[in-house]
Amino acid sequence: KDFRNNVKPNWCPGCGDFSVQAAIQRAAANVGLEPENLAVISGIGCSGRISGYINAYGFHGIHGRALPIAQGVKLANRELTVIASGGDGDGFAIGMAHTVHAIRRNLDITYIVMDNQIYGLTKGQTSPRSAVGFKTKSTPQGSIESPLSPLEIAMAAGATFVAQSFSSDLKQLTSLIEQGIQHKGFALINVFSPCVTFNKVNTYDWFKENIVNLDQFPDYDPTNRVAAMNKIMETNGMLTGLIYRDTTRKSYEDLIPGFREEGLYRQDLRLDQSQFEELVAEFY
Ligand code: SF4
Repeated sequence: KDFRNNVKPNWCPGCGDFSVQAAIQRAAANVGLEPENLAVISGIGCSGRISGYINAYGFHGIHGRALPIAQGVKLANRELTVIASGGDGDGFAIGMAHTVHAIRRNLDITYIVMDNQIYGLTKGQTSPRSAVGFKTKSTPQGSIESPLSPLEIAMAAGATFVAQSFSSDLKQLTSLIEQGIQHKGFALINVFSPCVTFNKVNTYDWFKENIVNLDQFPDYDPTNRVAAMNKIMETNGMLTGLIYRDTTRKSYEDLIPGFREEGLYRQDLRLDQSQFEELVAEFY
């Protein structure tokens, strides 16, 4: 069960995305997957390269469209474990509509966002996650827009699994990805993944000072939706750990009448003449 391949990542030394790659590889092995059971679908950005760095099926999609592709893969082959991944620009700017609708749809997919609060691949512009006052080439006088809160949006959209972690905490990150894979529904895992080259504000040290680990609250109940929303707001979205999980809601696949467990490739989808005519007649 080796999810490493021989492709050398071309991320900058120290980039937080290395830990996400390692965490996915470890989590996939820990839950007992084989490389042929896993598909990693990514969008565009430095983090989008991750689909080429894991020994599994990989699909490097177009900007903001990792989730539509991932949902198509999952519907075509339920036997696959599907991980979608990308950056905060990919998922929370151009891909935001897909993110919200994938959350409310609740297909059995794990979505890992490498959130570095900047556009790295295009050499440092303000992203939807950048703080007010953040100076980049696109906001030389400082951003005047409020940063988007992905955790609040996920909760408002009816998420059944919301977690957040940090690239420096490989143990927690691996555990959350394992739990996300095992969750029967859509799992959002936002990961603070520092861009060491272009973001000189939200550094590893900055995150270490500002993160609030849910381990500090032994009585915290991740099944309590109101408590989860309150904790997200109390901590200004800086908390890490398993924030919310609802195991009572069925996944999208389980709600489709007659939808079968086996992938379409195992099914005989041909219609004979009478079945075809019956189908056509339904639309008259
Ligand atoms: Fe990572 Fe930033 Fe380098 Fe991109 S530019 S690989 S996000 S450190």
